[in-house]
Amino acid sequence: MNKLNGSGLMNTDRRQLIDSAKLIVIKIGSGVLAGVDGLNQPALRRLGRQISAIRESGRQVVVVSSGAIASGLQPLGLTRMPKTIVDKQAAAAVGQQVLMNAWANVFRKSQIAVGQVLLTSDDLDHRSRYLNARHTLVSLLQRGVIPIINENDSVSFEEIKMGDNDHLSALVTTLISANLLVMLTNVDGLRRGGANGDLIEIVQAADHVDEHVSGSKSATGVGGMATKLQAARLVGRSGIPAIIANGSRTNVLKDILSGKNVGTYFEPKASRLDVRRRWIATATRPRGKILVDDGAQAAIASRQASLLPSGITQVEGHFSAGAVVRICDRKGVPFARGLVSYTSDETRRVMGHNSKEIPEILGYRYLDEIIHRNDLVLDGD
Ligand code: GLU
Repeated sequence: MNKLNGSGLMNTDRRQLIDSAKLIVIKIGSGVLAGVDGLNQPALRRLGRQISAIRESGRQVVVVSSGAIASGLQPLGLTRMPKTIVDKQAAAAVGQQVLMNAWANVFRKSQIAVGQVLLTSDDLDHRSRYLNARHTLVSLLQRGVIPIINENDSVSFEEIKMGDNDHLSALVTTLISANLLVMLTNVDGLRRGGANGDLIEIVQAADHVDEHVSGSKSATGVGGMATKLQAARLVGRSGIPAIIANGSRTNVLKDILSGKNVGTYFEPKASRLDVRRRWIATATRPRGKILVDDGAQAAIASRQASLLPSGITQVEGHFSAGAVVRICDRKGVPFARGLVSYTSDETRRVMGHNSKEIPEILGYRYLDEIIHRNDLVLDGD
């Protein structure tokens, strides 16, 4: 077996995790599903048949499907991917329904309904919308529907754009606590030293793999290998394995799930994070920074303590209560994230003071902690 480094993972671990995976997220890249002349119908049918078979075997599947922009090119008379965001949005608006119709057709034969779920990073950034998205997906799955997810390209703008569906698929995987993320693309997996080296079959949690990334993308693809590695790392942090494999390979999904060594498998970390902290660690964009003194840093880093006002030396940015912020050492280097119980303005007013003084300074007190230890995640977790 071609591991990146020498020792560690037994093949049986991979086998066991895949065998027991009851809920699987399958991300299919634009390069697999579509070219500049539209959707690749044989590829859709081939993958659709395999996904139906996975469902029949008693597993649940969520599909993250790219290809909206590519599907909109021809109807708009375009012959290549548009450069500007607004043209891509127009193409996605036209193409998304072409894409959904195609998936609905493919699964109609197996009498499986599909449900369209379009998300932006903003949706997953807010705890209430995040939970709503989860409830919708769980409800669809309970009703036997296959959710087909894409980024809501026509409303995404730079600030809230995820940029590519690799990241989206990783967020969805942690959102619904799936047991496996499969990213299908138009290469076989990660190759040693870039595009032409041997295929690396297993990447262990501690391996550094960035040097094996080469920059090429397909004519319709967006992310490339770098964003797939980030996605694999992100789900790995939550204890979920990921596989990058070639979506054009015959029986690719069937072979993966029957335990064959297809593509590159990313071993997950043993996760210490509960669902709420997973969200803090992965799904959110920090809204500001809180700098702390050495004593507070040591107490937080040893996982013993909450962040109290007395340890805070500086507050940067403008945030509301309930936002996620970065916690930094006194030089501003981040080492943790957490959910604040006070606004940036309130935090500035009480910083450096004992918690007992909060009512006197603010006229009220919600909690003694600016960030409670249950709402804190260390960067290495
Ligand atoms: N959301 C885009 C689309 O459906 C694709 C993004 C990607 O391929 O990563 O066309």
